[in-house]
Amino acid sequence: MKIALLGAVGVGKGTQAQRMVETLSNYTRISTGELVRNQIEAATDIGTEIKRYHDRGEPVPDEIILSLTIPHLQPAGFYILDGFPRTLVQAQALDSALDERGGGLDHVIVLESADNEGLIERVLGGRRQSLATGRVYHLNNDAPPSPEMSMDPGPFERRSDDNEESLRRQISAYSQEADPLKKHYEEQGILTVVNADAPIDEITASIFEALGTPR
Ligand code: AMP
Repeated sequence: MKIALLGAVGVGKGTQAQRMVETLSNYTRISTGELVRNQIEAATDIGTEIKRYHDRGEPVPDEIILSLTIPHLQPAGFYILDGFPRTLVQAQALDSALDERGGGLDHVIVLESADNEGLIERVLGGRRQSLATGRVYHLNNDAPPSPEMSMDPGPFERRSDDNEESLRRQISAYSQEADPLKKHYEEQGILTVVNADAPIDEITASIFEALGTPR
């Protein structure tokens, strides 16, 4: 299956996408945020161009996101798109790219929260990312493992775009695009909206139920 996992910053997309690839064998997680950060870290020409968008919490232009993402869409692949598409233009380009490869998305899961302030507090209150693996943790409910216990050696750091101003921009950008995106996938009959204010395990269970593969 080809699955897209969408939602505002802080709803837990990364955490749920990780759980999905850990449970569903053969699935790859394609995170556009990671693709963007890889370019920035490698200081490529594109990386230099998009750093200012990323660090300010602004969306990276559609054509750049598409050029980074489309090459990863293997025709026979099983994948979870994390944070992509984020605009209607991206969704339409994704539809065409997948049509050319013989099949569209099977499921679009939108994680939805009624509490934008809560999302900002959640991220600022302890989101950490492993520099070694890219995995996302949270100090309160999914703490980074101690070095001797785990395959993930860290270090675990706050992301450069985890500041209040950037988070507010990300939420505002998401709010503008969310309804047209949801409508697009609702019309295709592949949309499921999941309550992201529920406990983490409940969210995971709702996602697997929507996929037709209850755990
Ligand atoms: P994320 O890791 O999903 O929180 O994304 C981090 C940042 O990368 C966003 O704030 C944007 O600057 C950029 N980004 C990631 N995915 C997209 C996308 N699909 N469209 C536009 N910008 C994106």
